[in-house]
Amino acid sequence: MRAVDLIRRKRDSGILSPEEIRFLIDGYTRGDIPDYQMAAWLMAAWIRGLNPAELAALTEAMLHSGEVLDLSDLPGQKVDKHSTGGVGDKTSLILAPIVAAGGLLVPMISGRGLGHTGGTLDKLESIAGFNVNLSIAQFRDALRACGCALIGQTAEIAPADKKIYALRDVTGTVDSPFLICASIMSKKLAEGIDALVLDVKTGSGAFMKKLEDAEYLAGLMVETGRRMGKKIVALITDMEQPLGRTAGNAMEVAECIEVLNGGGPADLRELCIELAGWMFLLGGRVPGVGEGRRLAEEMIASGRARDRFRDIIRQQGGDVRIVDEPERLPHAKRKLDIPAPSAGYIAGIDCEQVGIACVMLGAGREKKEDAIDPAAGMEFHRRLGDRIERGGPLATLHYNSDARLDEARSLVEASYRIAAQAPAPRPLVHKVIGA
Ligand code: URA
Repeated sequence: MRAVDLIRRKRDSGILSPEEIRFLIDGYTRGDIPDYQMAAWLMAAWIRGLNPAELAALTEAMLHSGEVLDLSDLPGQKVDKHSTGGVGDKTSLILAPIVAAGGLLVPMISGRGLGHTGGTLDKLESIAGFNVNLSIAQFRDALRACGCALIGQTAEIAPADKKIYALRDVTGTVDSPFLICASIMSKKLAEGIDALVLDVKTGSGAFMKKLEDAEYLAGLMVETGRRMGKKIVALITDMEQPLGRTAGNAMEVAECIEVLNGGGPADLRELCIELAGWMFLLGGRVPGVGEGRRLAEEMIASGRARDRFRDIIRQQGGDVRIVDEPERLPHAKRKLDIPAPSAGYIAGIDCEQVGIACVMLGAGREKKEDAIDPAAGMEFHRRLGDRIERGGPLATLHYNSDARLDEARSLVEASYRIAAQAPAPRPLVHKVIGA
């Protein structure tokens, strides 16, 4: 078999056998197939798509590129959540401690920033000392000690996704339902979970901008999870504007602490309560989502979720002082307000462009080797439907380097649409698939 023949076949809309897909994935994971050939195949798959047998083969090849954890020796149901990615999407840092405090185990394998979206691992690494690269033994210890652990793909677990994810990030091959499904499900199925809640984003800041595309992706993932014997549900949630008040790694951690302290922005808090409700239901902890939501609220109100967040940070080597003193998180040296060009209501936000502006400020990567500036990002002062006066602040850019500041500022200025009338409100949760 030769990689070049498999690239040409996919380019010409041909079908690959499971053995051929395994050859590509195993060869790339081992380093025998170079980045440029994998990138070419990914682009061909992005354009031509995969049939159900190819998608199943890709997911399984990626899943079996490393170890599939067996956590059956740890008592209790193991439940996780994964998002398809958005701007300001920081729910994992809030959900893991809530759900662990509520009695379930949360073995969470997350990703870094992808395209214009942020990543859980980059957010966690803005906490000084936090180690997302645990060995399997350390991952198990953390689960035993804290009820949850947050790590990245490793050389041992989902190594194919680790490499392919980084390559897709910089080659324009992220927003394919097939590649997203294989990436997410290979990681999640390697975790040894019993149940999974998916947060499939739709809207201008999502990879699947249209509701029907998000539903299609949700259907692929729910079907894959069921085939592998998992309890699984997908919530299609709104990403027509950033989630919460900030995008940028350290600022998002601070916002998560606000929610764990019982405050924080209403949309972020509501989405976390809803997702936690479903996690508690699928984990058999409660008989219905309503009871699950109440349990989540109780975990926040009692301070148990915040205490658990502290435990996780300590367990994974991070500076626990940031929980009580979030001002210890990295701060940008410089800030720039973006004023509204006219008075009116916020009628639209091109959320993907806002995410790209954050990347330009240093919050994400444009090349695989780019370093992240944990302090860079953006604060949002207005949401869809809010009134603003001319010159009022739409957003504030936080930055240390002004190398791309002008570009970022222009993108943000062009992203907001102001109109005389407020738009119709959008639901936070559009649909639930697989309930
Ligand atoms: N999250 C992932 O883990 N992978 C994707 O491809 C997109 C979002």
